Amino acid sequence: MAGVLPIGRLPADDTPRAAVFWSMPRAELDSWPQRDLGAWKAEAVALWPQMASFLNGIRDNAAMTQARYAHGTLRRPFAPGLVHIGDAAHRASPQLGQGANMALLDALALGLALHGPLEDAPAAYAAMRRWHVLIYQGMSAAFTPMYQSRSRSLPWLRDRLLAPSSTLPLLRNGLTCSSRAPWRRRWPEPARHRRPVTSGRLAPARARAHIAAMIPPRFDITPEEIDRVVATFYAAIRRHEELGPIFAAHVTDWPAHEAKIAAFWRNAILYERSYEGSPMRAHIMAGNVHGQHFAPWLMLFDETLRRTLPPEAAQGWSALAHRIGAGLRMGVENMAVTAGPPVLR
Ligand SMILES: Cc1cc2nc3c(=O)[nH]c(=O)nc-3n(C[C@H](O)[C@H](O)[C@H](O)COP(=O)(O)OP(=O)(O)OC[C@H]3O[C@@H](n4cnc5c(N)ncnc54)[C@H](O)[C@@H]3O)c2cc1C
Repeated sequence: MAGVLPIGRLPADDTPRAAVFWSMPRAELDSWPQRDLGAWKAEAVALWPQMASFLNGIRDNAAMTQARYAHGTLRRPFAPGLVHIGDAAHRASPQLGQGANMALLDALALGLALHGPLEDAPAAYAAMRRWHVLIYQGMSAAFTPMYQSRSRSLPWLRDRLLAPSSTLPLLRNGLTCSSRAPWRRRWPEPARHRRPVTSGRLAPARARAHIAAMIPPRFDITPEEIDRVVATFYAAIRRHEELGPIFAAHVTDWPAHEAKIAAFWRNAILYERSYEGSPMRAHIMAGNVHGQHFAPWLMLFDETLRRTLPPEAAQGWSALAHRIGAGLRMGVENMAVTAGPPVLR
């Protein structure tokens, strides 16, 4: 397998960087330092001509770092006084490109579990992650031979059957949900009360209750106050000279839109699992939302918060809105600049 992976920029250099990777059977790895670099580049370019410019930067064999990987999942990722997260708990081939995300999700789950009684935290962490990790590891093991094996039939299946079928809406949604649904099932529901939990391996329902009791809202606010802010804000948006027409181009049913946005904020602030959607996708797909629109949006939102909420809640929500806004703005601007995959050179 050959690949080119955008890896960002260095702190004092604006040039976009990319990592080149090339897979080979383990038995050939030891002979890599002696391999004819020119012949290897010719082989790579014959397979993938667009890779040529990325290969120019590789001037000797040592520029390629060797990495080995294998599959393995710990049945129980914790022991007294010890918790395994990331690759230490579940290593896999990089074919699905999710290893870093999995490690971050583990860290998040462990962080949440640590809000509860210390002795219950390892089991709560493991319960939160169990099904997601198992499904991901299973998929990773199943798909790896399709990308890396001597088989002739598996790549054929991959290209002729799996690749086209993965674009079918039903399957595409299923694939997306496979990394989300099990996680969501283990993910805390909102809870307003605390229950004592004993240590040991937690049953799923108890684990959920345990986790739910651990997550306080980001700041003190009621669902009704959230609804009021949303209603006040959109009333102001409709009157806004610059932003009003942008929303009007998409929103015809304002009560439905406000209910959806209120659910988004309840999810973000109170951790209610009532919102389904992708704000990033919505902003990018809108087509008429640009980077310069985020400042007036945030200014109006801050003003609404100040007028509607006690200072502490207004401050907490404003900080969250600015953080989310910065992310959305970056997404909108990146897509506007490249209109497709990032251009690295
Ligand atoms: C070739 C390759 C390509 C990949 N591509 C992708 C991809 O596209 N997308 C993706 O999401 N994932 C990818 N992954 C997987 C991803 O890199 C890992 O899943 C992720 O880095 C795991 O994070 P981690 O923190 O668990 O472990 P690591 O990132 O391995 O971090 C563990 C750290 O601990 C350090 N360490 C080890 N032993 C000790 C010690 N005794 N004392 C102190 N420090 C120690 C190590 O040096 C290392 O820095 C790829 C992996 C490989 C090998």
